[in-house]
Amino acid sequence: MNMTQYMIGVDLGTTSTKVVLFDLHGQAVASANNPYPLYQDTPDMAEEDPAEIFDATITGLTEVLRRGHVRPSELQGVSFSAAMHSLILMDKDNAPLTRVITWADNRAAKYAEQLKDNDLGMALFKNTGVPTHPMSPMVKLLWLNAEHPDLVAQTTHFVGIKDYILFRLFGRYVEDYSLANATGLFNIHTMDWDEQALSLTHVQRAQLPELVDTTYQLRGMKSAYADVIGIDPNTPFIIGASDGTLSNLGVNAIDPGVLAVTIGTSGAVRVVTDKPVVDPQGRLFTYYLAKDRWVVGGPVNNGGIVFRWVRDQLFAPEKLTAEQLQIDSYELLTDIAAKIPAGADGLLFHPYLGGERAPIWDANARGSFFGLTRQHTRAHMVRAALEGIVYNLYMVMLMIEGITGKPQAIQATGGFARSALWRQMLADIFEQDVNIPESFESSALGAAVLGMDSLGLIDDLSAVKDMVGVTRTHHPNPDNFRVYRELLPIWIRLTRELGTEYAAIADFQRAHPDPNAHIAAED
Ligand code: ADP
Repeated sequence: MNMTQYMIGVDLGTTSTKVVLFDLHGQAVASANNPYPLYQDTPDMAEEDPAEIFDATITGLTEVLRRGHVRPSELQGVSFSAAMHSLILMDKDNAPLTRVITWADNRAAKYAEQLKDNDLGMALFKNTGVPTHPMSPMVKLLWLNAEHPDLVAQTTHFVGIKDYILFRLFGRYVEDYSLANATGLFNIHTMDWDEQALSLTHVQRAQLPELVDTTYQLRGMKSAYADVIGIDPNTPFIIGASDGTLSNLGVNAIDPGVLAVTIGTSGAVRVVTDKPVVDPQGRLFTYYLAKDRWVVGGPVNNGGIVFRWVRDQLFAPEKLTAEQLQIDSYELLTDIAAKIPAGADGLLFHPYLGGERAPIWDANARGSFFGLTRQHTRAHMVRAALEGIVYNLYMVMLMIEGITGKPQAIQATGGFARSALWRQMLADIFEQDVNIPESFESSALGAAVLGMDSLGLIDDLSAVKDMVGVTRTHHPNPDNFRVYRELLPIWIRLTRELGTEYAAIADFQRAHPDPNAHIAAED
């Protein structure tokens, strides 16, 4: 009988758990995507239910094995990717005292503000590699200590979502260096919990999971779950790493100078270095991937979600038409934008509709069009919006370039890659060739490749290069990049000028909340 070897990559994301069955050449054989709600009882809250994520994981594993017709002996291992910065408080009976407080939760904003731009905040950043922001579990702990001491007093363990899932499967709290790194409690120079962060947050070492490398294997899962999933309980589970770092691996952006650019709902620009390189100005993260591979980069809130806003708010009739004609509404809009020349006849757009993390780290940031004349049309606006999203990523790239050198190549992924126009804009604005890898679910593939490395099924992580094809390459168009070169300095200067007024307008908006805001949010 033919025997194929498989590896599963599980990606515990913010809105769903994706489970992908790969063969050892990195080809996706089957996949499952099980969503769960994000709980937002108040505007600043962004929580998930840990039990729902656990169920989504078990269901996903069961589904892909069934869909791929995999026999237990053919499955070599299961390896994990997970969203960064999640926090769950666990009680003495190992039951959750909270839901999963995700990276998107902003309730600790005040405590991030208190650490920003001062010596303590900078010292913590330099040792942990996590920019001072409410996303960081370290900052969330300051908020919980101050505002929910009752919950903290009952806590025996502070864990992340993957730690919770592995605890339920294996009965141990273990955490990989990569996700530990994203907690803000981990020292990237000593590869251990950071004493200063622990003392500031009043967390004891015994309340944190045991630290292990990203290639660490767990075996002997609880047989009840193994039976449900239909696998051998001794199948190795490789602990894996964070989704951002694994995405670099999954698109084959692990060599120095290869930039990974993602524009999905949000966005990111990242590069791999062989040492923990820290941005002296605290604007970029430094996260561990695997031995001698660190990821330096910036997360961006405003990616494709801004294009979605443009479609829904400025092009509602076209969206309806697209629905009726059963064509892709984003495609209809990019066709409209393509008729406008590069630079949108001098219309600039700052995409900060959802505040912003990198490059400006300002939760009060707001969006704007600049340079409007009577000649500009809605078509200019959509083009300016797509360009503005890329200008913003370009600013992050400049920061990375400042500390790791000029990028030599770009691997780009995310929903934006469905548009030829948007891909070309990236090449033109960055003045670099842009490759679009064909890899499917890059973080899940990254997890699977890390798992293969852990099990000795490949020689080295660089084996990923034979698994990730290139579907398209875009070369910068000189006519276009000359235009962008003129506009970019204006766009960047404006970012600074406008920044002085963001707090004022955000304060006004908070003082005069839109009574219909909840309706818009439910759309
Ligand atoms: P996520 O980051 O949530 O996994 P995706 O990577 O699929 O999501 O990205 C979704 C975004 O991709 C959408 O908000 C939209 O801006 C963009 N997008 C989707 N389809 C297209 C398209 N045909 N052309 C351009 N952009 C698109």
